[in-house]
Amino acid sequence: MTKTMDKETLLKAVLASDELPTLPTVASKLISLTSKEDTTLADIADLVSQDMALSTRILKVSNSSFYSFQQKIGSIKQAVSILGTNAVRSLVLSFSFLSIKGGKNESRFNFEKFWERSLASAVAAKLILEKVKGADTEEIFISGLLQNLGELIFARTFTDEYEKVLEAIEKKESDSISAEEKHFGANHSLVGYEVAKSWGFPDVLLLPILYHHEPAAYTGQDLKIKMTNKAVYLSDILISILFSDQPEEYHKQFRKEAKALLGLTPEDIESILTELHSKVEEAGKYFDLKIKNSKSVQEILQEANIRLSLINLDYDQMNKQLIQAKIALENLTKELEAKNRVLDNLANLDGLTGIYNHRYFQNILDQEISRSLRHTSQISLLLIDIDHFKKFNDTYGHQTGDFVLKEFSRILQENIRKYDTLARYGGEEFVIVLPETAAEDALVVAEKLRAAIDSAALTDNRETYHVTASFGMACTKPSVEDNFVKSGFISRADEALYEAKEKGRNRVVAYTPKKKWYSF
Ligand code: GH3
Ligand code: MG
Ligand code: MG
Repeated sequence: MTKTMDKETLLKAVLASDELPTLPTVASKLISLTSKEDTTLADIADLVSQDMALSTRILKVSNSSFYSFQQKIGSIKQAVSILGTNAVRSLVLSFSFLSIKGGKNESRFNFEKFWERSLASAVAAKLILEKVKGADTEEIFISGLLQNLGELIFARTFTDEYEKVLEAIEKKESDSISAEEKHFGANHSLVGYEVAKSWGFPDVLLLPILYHHEPAAYTGQDLKIKMTNKAVYLSDILISILFSDQPEEYHKQFRKEAKALLGLTPEDIESILTELHSKVEEAGKYFDLKIKNSKSVQEILQEANIRLSLINLDYDQMNKQLIQAKIALENLTKELEAKNRVLDNLANLDGLTGIYNHRYFQNILDQEISRSLRHTSQISLLLIDIDHFKKFNDTYGHQTGDFVLKEFSRILQENIRKYDTLARYGGEEFVIVLPETAAEDALVVAEKLRAAIDSAALTDNRETYHVTASFGMACTKPSVEDNFVKSGFISRADEALYEAKEKGRNRVVAYTPKKKWYSF
Protein backbone atom coordinates (compact mmCIF):
# COMPACT_ATOMS: atom_id res chain seq x y z
CA MET A 1 0.00 0.00 0.00
CA THR A 2 1.27 3.40 -0.90
CA LYS A 3 -0.02 6.92 -0.75
CA THR A 4 -0.89 6.73 -4.39
CA MET A 5 -3.66 4.25 -3.78
CA ASP A 6 -6.95 5.94 -4.43
CA LYS A 7 -10.23 5.60 -2.59
CA GLU A 8 -11.82 3.18 -5.05
CA THR A 9 -8.87 0.80 -5.04
CA LEU A 10 -8.76 0.88 -1.26
CA LEU A 11 -12.46 0.13 -0.89
CA LYS A 12 -12.26 -2.71 -3.39
CA ALA A 13 -9.35 -4.21 -1.51
CA VAL A 14 -11.13 -3.89 1.82
CA LEU A 15 -14.34 -5.46 0.57
CA ALA A 16 -12.44 -8.32 -1.05
CA SER A 17 -10.23 -8.98 1.96
CA ASP A 18 -10.33 -12.40 3.61
CA GLU A 19 -10.00 -10.64 6.93
CA LEU A 20 -13.19 -8.65 6.51
CA PRO A 21 -15.47 -9.79 9.34
CA THR A 22 -18.69 -11.49 8.31
CA LEU A 23 -21.93 -10.73 10.04
CA PRO A 24 -23.47 -13.56 12.04
CA THR A 25 -26.39 -15.14 10.15
CA VAL A 26 -29.08 -13.84 12.47
CA ALA A 27 -27.82 -10.29 12.14
CA SER A 28 -27.68 -10.35 8.38
CA LYS A 29 -31.06 -12.07 8.01
CA LEU A 30 -32.53 -9.52 10.38
CA ILE A 31 -31.24 -6.65 8.31
CA SER A 32 -32.81 -7.97 5.17
CA LEU A 33 -36.03 -8.81 7.00
CA THR A 34 -36.38 -5.34 8.50
CA SER A 35 -35.78 -3.73 5.13
CA LYS A 36 -38.92 -5.37 3.71
CA GLU A 37 -42.19 -3.54 4.10
CA ASP A 38 -44.43 -6.53 4.73
CA THR A 39 -42.37 -7.97 7.57
CA THR A 40 -44.41 -8.48 10.74
CA LEU A 41 -43.33 -8.33 14.35
CA ALA A 42 -43.91 -12.08 14.50
CA ASP A 43 -41.45 -12.70 11.63
CA ILE A 44 -38.79 -10.80 13.52
CA ALA A 45 -39.53 -12.52 16.80
CA ASP A 46 -39.39 -15.93 15.07
CA LEU A 47 -36.01 -15.22 13.52
CA VAL A 48 -34.40 -13.97 16.70
CA SER A 49 -35.93 -16.75 18.80
CA GLN A 50 -34.13 -19.32 16.67
CA ASP A 51 -30.86 -18.26 18.26
CA MET A 52 -31.29 -19.35 21.87
CA ALA A 53 -28.10 -17.82 23.22
CA LEU A 54 -28.80 -14.50 21.58
CA SER A 55 -32.42 -14.52 22.75
CA THR A 56 -31.36 -15.10 26.33
CA ARG A 57 -28.97 -12.18 26.23
CA ILE A 58 -31.53 -9.89 24.67
CA LEU A 59 -34.07 -10.77 27.36
CA LYS A 60 -31.46 -10.09 30.01
CA VAL A 61 -30.83 -6.59 28.70
CA SER A 62 -34.54 -5.94 28.06
CA ASN A 63 -35.25 -6.65 31.70
CA SER A 64 -32.34 -4.63 33.00
CA SER A 65 -32.49 -1.06 34.19
CA PHE A 66 -31.02 -0.22 30.79
CA TYR A 67 -34.63 -0.04 29.71
CA SER A 68 -36.90 1.04 32.49
CA PHE A 69 -39.77 -1.33 31.85
CA GLN A 70 -41.14 -2.57 35.13
CA GLN A 71 -43.12 -5.24 33.42
CA LYS A 72 -41.16 -8.44 33.01
CA ILE A 73 -40.37 -9.18 29.39
CA GLY A 74 -40.57 -12.94 29.14
CA SER A 75 -40.22 -13.69 25.46
CA ILE A 76 -38.62 -12.29 22.35
CA LYS A 77 -42.09 -11.72 20.96
CA GLN A 78 -42.86 -9.50 23.91
CA ALA A 79 -39.51 -7.76 23.61
CA VAL A 80 -40.23 -6.92 19.98
CA SER A 81 -43.68 -5.55 20.78
CA ILE A 82 -42.63 -3.61 23.84
CA LEU A 83 -39.19 -2.31 22.84
CA GLY A 84 -39.98 -2.01 19.15
CA THR A 85 -38.48 -3.68 16.09
CA ASN A 86 -35.67 -1.17 15.69
CA ALA A 87 -34.57 -1.46 19.29
CA VAL A 88 -34.41 -5.24 19.01
CA ARG A 89 -32.49 -4.99 15.75
CA SER A 90 -30.13 -2.63 17.51
CA LEU A 91 -29.59 -5.14 20.31
CA VAL A 92 -29.03 -8.05 17.93
CA LEU A 93 -26.45 -6.04 16.02
CA SER A 94 -24.78 -4.87 19.23
CA PHE A 95 -24.29 -8.42 20.46
CA SER A 96 -23.14 -9.56 17.03
CA PHE A 97 -20.51 -6.87 16.75
CA LEU A 98 -19.25 -7.14 20.26
CA SER A 99 -18.37 -10.73 19.47
CA ILE A 100 -16.03 -9.77 16.62
CA LYS A 101 -12.51 -10.41 17.88
CA GLY A 102 -9.06 -9.60 16.66
CA GLY A 103 -7.50 -10.91 13.49
CA LYS A 104 -4.04 -12.45 13.38
CA ASN A 105 -1.27 -10.74 15.28
CA GLU A 106 -1.74 -8.36 18.14
CA SER A 107 -0.63 -4.89 17.20
CA ARG A 108 -1.02 -1.37 18.47
CA PHE A 109 -4.69 -1.84 17.75
CA ASN A 110 -6.19 -3.39 20.83
CA PHE A 111 -9.56 -5.01 20.11
CA GLU A 112 -10.61 -5.08 23.73
CA LYS A 113 -9.88 -1.41 24.18
CA PHE A 114 -11.65 -0.68 20.93
CA TRP A 115 -14.85 -2.33 22.12
CA GLU A 116 -14.56 -0.85 25.57
CA ARG A 117 -14.42 2.59 24.04
CA SER A 118 -17.13 1.81 21.51
CA LEU A 119 -19.47 0.53 24.20
CA ALA A 120 -18.82 3.66 26.23
CA SER A 121 -19.61 5.76 23.14
CA ALA A 122 -22.82 3.82 22.61
CA VAL A 123 -23.92 4.47 26.17
CA ALA A 124 -22.86 8.11 25.87
CA ALA A 125 -24.76 8.60 22.62
CA LYS A 126 -27.87 7.09 24.20
CA LEU A 127 -27.58 9.31 27.30
CA ILE A 128 -27.16 12.38 25.12
CA LEU A 129 -30.07 11.74 22.77
CA GLU A 130 -32.38 10.84 25.64
CA LYS A 131 -32.09 14.44 26.75
CA VAL A 132 -33.52 15.70 23.47
CA LYS A 133 -37.29 15.95 23.71
CA GLY A 134 -39.11 13.88 21.16
CA ALA A 135 -35.96 12.26 19.77
CA ASP A 136 -36.21 8.66 18.60
CA THR A 137 -33.70 6.78 20.75
CA GLU A 138 -34.41 3.22 19.64
CA GLU A 139 -31.29 2.88 17.52
CA ILE A 140 -28.87 5.40 18.92
CA PHE A 141 -27.03 2.68 20.84
CA ILE A 142 -25.95 0.75 17.77
CA SER A 143 -25.03 3.98 15.96
CA GLY A 144 -22.82 4.97 18.86
CA LEU A 145 -21.32 1.51 18.99
CA LEU A 146 -20.50 1.31 15.30
CA GLN A 147 -19.25 4.83 14.67
CA ASN A 148 -15.63 3.68 14.43
CA LEU A 149 -16.35 0.44 12.61
CA GLY A 150 -13.92 1.66 9.93
CA GLU A 151 -11.02 1.54 12.40
CA LEU A 152 -11.77 -2.08 13.15
CA ILE A 153 -11.89 -2.80 9.44
CA PHE A 154 -8.52 -1.10 8.90
CA ALA A 155 -7.02 -3.10 11.74
CA ARG A 156 -8.32 -6.35 10.31
CA THR A 157 -7.75 -5.85 6.61
CA PHE A 158 -4.63 -3.69 6.54
CA THR A 159 -3.02 -4.59 9.84
CA ASP A 160 0.54 -3.56 9.04
CA GLU A 161 -0.24 -0.36 7.24
CA TYR A 162 -2.70 0.68 9.93
CA GLU A 163 0.06 0.17 12.45
CA LYS A 164 1.87 3.15 10.91
CA VAL A 165 -1.27 5.26 11.16
CA LEU A 166 -1.63 4.39 14.82
CA GLU A 167 2.01 5.18 15.43
CA ALA A 168 1.59 8.63 13.90
CA ILE A 169 -1.46 9.26 16.07
CA GLU A 170 0.32 8.00 19.16
CA LYS A 171 3.25 10.33 18.54
CA LYS A 172 0.73 13.14 18.13
CA GLU A 173 2.03 13.79 14.63
CA SER A 174 -1.53 13.98 13.38
CA ASP A 175 -5.11 13.20 14.27
CA SER A 176 -6.74 9.95 13.20
CA ILE A 177 -8.69 11.32 10.26
CA SER A 178 -5.72 13.01 8.56
CA ALA A 179 -3.37 10.13 9.32
CA GLU A 180 -5.80 7.68 7.73
CA GLU A 181 -6.33 9.87 4.72
CA LYS A 182 -2.63 10.32 4.27
CA HIS A 183 -1.90 6.58 4.39
CA PHE A 184 -5.01 5.13 2.81
CA GLY A 185 -6.58 7.92 0.78
CA ALA A 186 -9.77 7.55 2.85
CA ASN A 187 -10.69 7.75 6.50
CA HIS A 188 -12.45 5.29 8.78
CA SER A 189 -15.83 7.03 8.40
CA LEU A 190 -15.95 6.22 4.71
CA VAL A 191 -14.54 2.72 5.09
CA GLY A 192 -16.97 1.86 7.88
CA TYR A 193 -19.82 3.27 5.85
CA GLU A 194 -18.93 1.30 2.71
CA VAL A 195 -18.53 -1.98 4.57
CA ALA A 196 -21.81 -1.53 6.44
CA LYS A 197 -23.44 -0.70 3.13
CA SER A 198 -22.16 -3.95 1.67
CA TRP A 199 -23.85 -5.68 4.61
CA GLY A 200 -27.15 -4.13 3.56
CA PHE A 201 -27.49 -1.69 6.46
CA PRO A 202 -30.32 0.83 6.09
CA ASP A 203 -29.51 4.56 5.81
CA VAL A 204 -30.54 5.26 9.36
CA LEU A 205 -27.66 3.08 10.55
CA LEU A 206 -25.28 3.87 7.69
CA LEU A 207 -25.24 7.63 7.59
CA PRO A 208 -24.20 8.21 11.21
CA ILE A 209 -21.12 6.08 10.50
CA LEU A 210 -20.29 8.34 7.56
CA TYR A 211 -21.01 11.65 9.30
CA HIS A 212 -19.99 11.03 12.89
CA HIS A 213 -16.93 13.26 12.63
CA GLU A 214 -18.69 15.96 10.68
CA PRO A 215 -22.42 16.09 11.37
CA ALA A 216 -22.75 19.40 9.53
CA ALA A 217 -21.75 17.69 6.27
CA TYR A 218 -25.01 15.75 6.20
CA THR A 219 -27.32 17.70 3.91
CA GLY A 220 -30.29 15.32 3.94
CA GLN A 221 -33.58 16.21 5.56
CA ASP A 222 -34.13 13.16 7.77
CA LEU A 223 -34.46 14.57 11.26
CA LYS A 224 -33.71 11.26 12.99
CA ILE A 225 -30.48 10.83 11.02
CA LYS A 226 -29.54 14.46 11.66
CA MET A 227 -29.94 14.09 15.40
CA THR A 228 -28.21 10.72 15.48
CA ASN A 229 -25.21 12.17 13.62
CA LYS A 230 -24.94 14.93 16.18
CA ALA A 231 -25.42 12.70 19.22
CA VAL A 232 -22.81 10.25 17.94
CA TYR A 233 -20.39 13.09 17.23
CA LEU A 234 -20.89 14.41 20.75
CA SER A 235 -20.52 10.95 22.25
CA ASP A 236 -16.96 10.75 20.98
CA ILE A 237 -16.07 14.06 22.63
CA LEU A 238 -17.75 12.99 25.84
CA ILE A 239 -15.94 9.68 25.91
CA SER A 240 -12.64 11.42 25.35
CA ILE A 241 -13.04 12.88 28.83
CA LEU A 242 -12.70 9.32 30.14
CA PHE A 243 -10.14 7.97 27.69
CA SER A 244 -7.81 10.77 26.64
CA ASP A 245 -5.04 12.56 28.49
CA GLN A 246 -6.70 15.95 28.08
CA PRO A 247 -9.95 15.45 29.95
CA GLU A 248 -10.45 19.12 30.70
CA GLU A 249 -10.30 20.21 27.09
CA TYR A 250 -12.85 17.63 26.05
CA HIS A 251 -15.01 18.56 28.99
CA LYS A 252 -15.09 22.17 27.83
CA GLN A 253 -15.67 21.19 24.25
CA PHE A 254 -18.49 18.84 25.17
CA ARG A 255 -20.33 21.47 27.20
CA LYS A 256 -20.02 23.98 24.38
CA GLU A 257 -20.98 21.72 21.51
CA ALA A 258 -23.78 19.86 23.30
CA LYS A 259 -25.46 23.19 23.82
CA ALA A 260 -24.79 24.43 20.30
CA LEU A 261 -25.72 21.26 18.41
CA LEU A 262 -28.64 19.84 20.39
CA GLY A 263 -29.61 22.72 22.66
CA LEU A 264 -28.85 20.78 25.84
CA THR A 265 -29.22 22.79 29.04
CA PRO A 266 -26.51 22.96 31.71
CA GLU A 267 -28.72 20.63 33.81
CA ASP A 268 -28.95 18.09 30.98
CA ILE A 269 -25.19 18.21 30.57
CA GLU A 270 -24.58 17.86 34.29
CA SER A 271 -26.84 14.87 34.48
CA ILE A 272 -25.10 13.21 31.52
CA LEU A 273 -21.67 13.79 33.07
CA THR A 274 -22.83 12.36 36.39
CA GLU A 275 -24.51 9.29 34.99
CA LEU A 276 -22.00 8.37 32.30
CA HIS A 277 -19.57 6.38 34.37
CA SER A 278 -22.05 4.13 36.15
CA LYS A 279 -24.11 3.58 32.99
CA VAL A 280 -20.99 2.50 31.11
CA GLU A 281 -20.08 0.05 33.86
CA GLU A 282 -23.60 -1.28 33.87
CA ALA A 283 -23.62 -1.75 30.10
CA GLY A 284 -20.31 -3.59 30.42
CA LYS A 285 -22.08 -6.15 32.57
CA TYR A 286 -24.95 -6.70 30.18
CA PHE A 287 -22.69 -7.01 27.19
CA ASP A 288 -20.07 -9.12 28.96
CA LEU A 289 -17.31 -6.62 28.46
CA LYS A 290 -14.76 -5.72 31.09
CA ILE A 291 -14.66 -1.98 31.61
CA LYS A 292 -11.26 -1.07 32.98
CA ASN A 293 -11.63 2.64 33.45
CA SER A 294 -13.54 2.93 36.67
CA LYS A 295 -13.30 6.61 37.45
CA SER A 296 -16.17 9.03 37.19
CA VAL A 297 -15.95 12.19 35.09
CA GLN A 298 -15.88 14.22 38.27
CA GLU A 299 -12.92 12.27 39.67
CA ILE A 300 -11.02 12.50 36.40
CA LEU A 301 -11.49 16.24 36.16
CA GLN A 302 -10.54 16.72 39.76
CA GLU A 303 -7.35 14.73 39.31
CA ALA A 304 -6.46 16.66 36.19
CA ASN A 305 -6.97 19.83 38.13
CA ILE A 306 -4.67 18.68 40.90
CA ARG A 307 -2.01 17.62 38.42
CA LEU A 308 -2.11 21.03 36.78
CA SER A 309 -1.82 22.90 40.02
CA LEU A 310 1.14 20.81 41.18
CA ILE A 311 3.32 21.82 38.27
CA ASN A 312 5.80 24.57 39.19
CA LEU A 313 5.33 24.42 42.93
CA ASP A 314 8.07 24.19 45.55
CA TYR A 315 8.00 21.51 48.18
CA ASP A 316 6.06 23.45 50.82
CA GLN A 317 3.48 24.64 48.41
CA MET A 318 3.14 21.18 47.01
CA ASN A 319 2.53 19.79 50.43
CA LYS A 320 -0.17 22.33 51.11
CA GLN A 321 -1.80 21.59 47.83
CA LEU A 322 -1.76 17.88 48.50
CA ILE A 323 -3.44 18.38 51.82
CA GLN A 324 -6.10 20.49 50.18
CA ALA A 325 -6.55 17.93 47.50
CA LYS A 326 -7.01 15.26 50.12
CA ILE A 327 -9.69 17.33 51.82
CA ALA A 328 -11.39 17.91 48.49
CA LEU A 329 -11.43 14.17 47.82
CA GLU A 330 -12.91 13.51 51.23
CA ASN A 331 -15.66 15.97 50.48
CA LEU A 332 -16.22 14.23 47.20
CA THR A 333 -16.64 10.93 49.03
CA LYS A 334 -19.24 12.50 51.28
CA GLU A 335 -21.06 13.85 48.27
CA LEU A 336 -21.00 10.42 46.70
CA GLU A 337 -22.46 8.87 49.81
CA ALA A 338 -25.29 11.38 49.71
CA LYS A 339 -25.86 10.56 46.06
CA ASN A 340 -25.98 6.87 46.90
CA ARG A 341 -28.72 7.51 49.39
CA VAL A 342 -30.69 9.22 46.64
CA LEU A 343 -30.04 6.20 44.45
CA ASP A 344 -31.37 3.85 47.13
CA ASN A 345 -34.50 5.87 47.09
CA LEU A 346 -34.66 5.68 43.32
CA ALA A 347 -34.67 1.90 43.58
CA ASN A 348 -38.21 2.20 44.88
CA LEU A 349 -39.40 4.31 41.98
CA ASP A 350 -40.63 3.36 38.57
CA GLY A 351 -38.30 4.73 35.90
CA LEU A 352 -40.97 5.82 33.47
CA THR A 353 -43.67 7.34 35.64
CA GLY A 354 -41.73 8.34 38.75
CA ILE A 355 -44.33 6.76 41.03
CA TYR A 356 -43.50 3.80 43.30
CA ASN A 357 -42.68 0.49 41.68
CA HIS A 358 -43.99 -3.03 42.22
CA ARG A 359 -41.35 -3.88 44.80
CA TYR A 360 -42.21 -0.88 46.93
CA PHE A 361 -45.91 -1.68 46.66
CA GLN A 362 -45.30 -5.20 48.05
CA ASN A 363 -43.33 -3.75 50.97
CA ILE A 364 -45.84 -1.07 51.82
CA LEU A 365 -48.69 -3.56 51.65
CA ASP A 366 -46.85 -5.82 54.11
CA GLN A 367 -46.43 -2.87 56.43
CA GLU A 368 -50.04 -1.79 56.15
CA ILE A 369 -51.25 -5.32 56.79
CA SER A 370 -49.16 -5.52 59.98
CA ARG A 371 -50.53 -2.19 61.02
CA SER A 372 -54.15 -3.12 60.44
CA LEU A 373 -53.56 -6.38 62.35
CA ARG A 374 -52.37 -4.30 65.33
CA HIS A 375 -55.19 -1.79 65.07
CA THR A 376 -57.83 -4.25 63.81
CA SER A 377 -58.56 -1.77 61.05
CA GLN A 378 -59.64 -2.25 57.44
CA ILE A 379 -57.54 -1.85 54.36
CA SER A 380 -58.65 -1.42 50.76
CA LEU A 381 -56.86 -2.09 47.54
CA LEU A 382 -57.56 -0.74 44.06
CA LEU A 383 -56.16 -2.48 41.02
CA ILE A 384 -56.37 -0.35 37.90
CA ASP A 385 -55.79 -1.34 34.29
CA ILE A 386 -55.94 0.95 31.29
CA ASP A 387 -58.52 -0.19 28.76
CA HIS A 388 -57.44 -1.40 25.34
CA PHE A 389 -53.99 -0.03 25.81
CA LYS A 390 -52.42 -2.40 23.36
CA LYS A 391 -54.61 -0.93 20.67
CA PHE A 392 -53.67 2.56 21.85
CA ASN A 393 -49.99 1.73 21.43
CA ASP A 394 -50.62 0.18 18.04
CA THR A 395 -52.47 3.31 16.92
CA TYR A 396 -50.28 6.08 18.34
CA GLY A 397 -46.95 4.34 18.97
CA HIS A 398 -45.10 3.40 22.11
CA GLN A 399 -43.70 6.83 22.83
CA THR A 400 -47.20 8.28 22.99
CA GLY A 401 -48.20 5.25 25.08
CA ASP A 402 -45.41 6.10 27.49
CA PHE A 403 -46.55 9.69 27.62
CA VAL A 404 -50.05 8.53 28.51
CA LEU A 405 -48.71 6.27 31.27
CA LYS A 406 -46.99 9.26 32.83
CA GLU A 407 -50.05 11.49 32.59
CA PHE A 408 -52.25 8.69 33.87
CA SER A 409 -50.04 8.27 36.95
CA ARG A 410 -50.02 11.99 37.55
CA ILE A 411 -53.82 12.23 37.52
CA LEU A 412 -54.16 9.31 39.93
CA GLN A 413 -51.52 10.77 42.23
CA GLU A 414 -53.24 14.16 42.28
CA ASN A 415 -56.54 12.62 43.29
CA ILE A 416 -55.55 10.51 46.29
CA ARG A 417 -54.78 11.30 49.92
CA LYS A 418 -51.30 11.68 51.33
CA TYR A 419 -51.34 8.34 53.16
CA ASP A 420 -52.61 6.37 50.19
CA THR A 421 -49.88 4.70 48.14
CA LEU A 422 -49.98 4.65 44.36
CA ALA A 423 -47.63 2.29 42.55
CA ARG A 424 -47.12 0.91 39.07
CA TYR A 425 -48.10 -2.72 39.35
CA GLY A 426 -46.56 -3.51 35.96
CA GLY A 427 -47.09 -2.45 32.33
CA GLU A 428 -50.32 -0.47 32.17
CA GLU A 429 -51.56 -1.70 35.55
CA PHE A 430 -51.53 0.41 38.67
CA VAL A 431 -52.36 -0.24 42.28
CA ILE A 432 -53.45 1.94 45.18
CA VAL A 433 -53.24 0.92 48.83
CA LEU A 434 -55.84 2.72 50.95
CA PRO A 435 -55.07 2.20 54.64
CA GLU A 436 -57.88 2.37 57.18
CA THR A 437 -60.46 2.62 54.45
CA ALA A 438 -63.82 0.85 54.32
CA ALA A 439 -65.20 -0.65 51.13
CA GLU A 440 -67.80 2.12 50.59
CA ASP A 441 -65.16 4.79 50.91
CA ALA A 442 -62.74 2.96 48.63
CA LEU A 443 -65.47 2.72 46.01
CA VAL A 444 -66.03 6.46 46.20
CA VAL A 445 -62.32 7.06 45.69
CA ALA A 446 -62.23 4.61 42.79
CA GLU A 447 -65.21 6.19 41.12
CA LYS A 448 -63.68 9.64 41.50
CA LEU A 449 -60.44 8.40 39.91
CA ARG A 450 -62.28 6.65 37.11
CA ALA A 451 -64.21 9.82 36.30
CA ALA A 452 -61.05 11.95 36.49
CA ILE A 453 -59.34 9.70 33.96
CA ASP A 454 -62.39 9.51 31.72
CA SER A 455 -62.75 13.28 31.58
CA ALA A 456 -59.05 14.08 31.20
CA ALA A 457 -57.75 15.40 27.90
CA LEU A 458 -54.17 14.15 27.67
CA THR A 459 -52.33 16.62 25.48
CA ASP A 460 -48.77 16.36 24.29
CA ASN A 461 -47.25 18.92 21.92
CA ARG A 462 -49.23 17.65 19.02
CA GLU A 463 -52.48 15.97 19.88
CA THR A 464 -55.04 15.23 22.54
CA TYR A 465 -55.66 11.66 23.65
CA HIS A 466 -58.30 9.98 25.76
CA VAL A 467 -58.15 6.73 27.68
CA THR A 468 -60.38 4.96 30.17
CA ALA A 469 -59.49 2.46 32.84
CA SER A 470 -61.15 -0.37 34.74
CA PHE A 471 -60.95 -0.67 38.51
CA GLY A 472 -61.10 -3.70 40.81
CA MET A 473 -61.58 -3.06 44.52
CA ALA A 474 -61.05 -5.38 47.44
CA CYS A 475 -61.40 -4.55 51.11
CA THR A 476 -60.34 -6.61 54.10
CA LYS A 477 -59.89 -6.60 57.84
CA PRO A 478 -56.94 -8.99 58.20
CA SER A 479 -57.45 -9.33 61.96
CA VAL A 480 -60.80 -11.13 61.57
CA GLU A 481 -59.95 -13.29 58.59
CA ASP A 482 -58.88 -16.91 58.98
CA ASN A 483 -55.71 -17.67 57.08
CA PHE A 484 -55.29 -14.20 55.67
CA VAL A 485 -52.66 -14.07 52.95
CA LYS A 486 -51.47 -10.99 51.13
CA SER A 487 -51.44 -12.62 47.71
CA GLY A 488 -55.02 -13.79 48.19
CA PHE A 489 -56.03 -10.24 48.97
CA ILE A 490 -54.39 -8.95 45.78
CA SER A 491 -56.07 -11.73 43.78
CA ARG A 492 -59.47 -10.54 44.97
CA ALA A 493 -58.85 -7.06 43.60
CA ASP A 494 -57.61 -8.73 40.44
CA GLU A 495 -60.80 -10.82 40.14
CA ALA A 496 -62.90 -7.72 40.54
CA LEU A 497 -60.81 -5.98 37.90
CA TYR A 498 -61.36 -8.90 35.55
CA GLU A 499 -65.06 -8.58 36.16
CA ALA A 500 -64.93 -4.84 35.39
CA LYS A 501 -63.29 -5.67 32.07
CA GLU A 502 -65.89 -8.34 31.33
CA LYS A 503 -68.73 -5.99 32.04
CA GLY A 504 -67.54 -3.55 29.42
CA ARG A 505 -64.59 -1.65 30.97
CA ASN A 506 -64.40 1.99 32.19
CA ARG A 507 -66.03 1.00 35.47
CA VAL A 508 -65.41 0.10 39.08
CA VAL A 509 -66.23 -3.34 40.45
CA ALA A 510 -65.93 -4.47 44.06
CA TYR A 511 -64.99 -8.00 44.99
CA THR A 512 -67.61 -9.76 47.11
CA PRO A 513 -66.89 -13.04 48.88
CA LYS A 514 -70.29 -14.49 47.97
CA LYS A 515 -69.28 -14.24 44.34
CA LYS A 516 -72.01 -11.71 43.81
CA TRP A 517 -70.83 -8.66 41.98
CA TYR A 518 -72.13 -5.19 41.96
CA SER A 519 -70.85 -2.30 39.99
CA PHE A 520 -71.30 1.41 39.58
P1 GH3 B 1 -57.60 -4.54 28.26
O1 GH3 B 1 -58.64 -3.48 28.10
O2 GH3 B 1 -58.16 -5.91 28.27
O3 GH3 B 1 -56.75 -4.29 29.44
O4 GH3 B 1 -56.72 -4.46 26.96
P2 GH3 B 1 -55.19 -4.06 26.87
O5 GH3 B 1 -54.85 -3.95 25.45
O6 GH3 B 1 -54.93 -2.85 27.69
O7 GH3 B 1 -54.49 -5.26 27.60
P3 GH3 B 1 -53.20 -6.11 27.31
O8 GH3 B 1 -52.78 -6.61 28.65
O9 GH3 B 1 -53.48 -7.12 26.24
O10 GH3 B 1 -52.16 -5.14 26.74
C1 GH3 B 1 -51.45 -4.28 27.56
C2 GH3 B 1 -50.61 -3.41 26.69
O11 GH3 B 1 -49.95 -2.43 27.45
C3 GH3 B 1 -49.56 -4.17 25.95
C4 GH3 B 1 -48.35 -3.30 25.98
O12 GH3 B 1 -48.00 -2.93 24.67
C5 GH3 B 1 -48.78 -2.08 26.76
N1 GH3 B 1 -47.74 -1.67 27.68
C6 GH3 B 1 -47.32 -2.29 28.79
N2 GH3 B 1 -46.30 -1.62 29.37
C7 GH3 B 1 -46.06 -0.52 28.60
C8 GH3 B 1 -45.15 0.57 28.65
O13 GH3 B 1 -44.31 0.69 29.56
N3 GH3 B 1 -45.24 1.50 27.69
C9 GH3 B 1 -46.16 1.41 26.70
N4 GH3 B 1 -46.21 2.37 25.77
N5 GH3 B 1 -47.01 0.39 26.60
C10 GH3 B 1 -46.98 -0.56 27.53
MG1 MG C 1 -55.20 -2.96 29.72
MG1 MG D 1 -53.02 -5.50 31.16
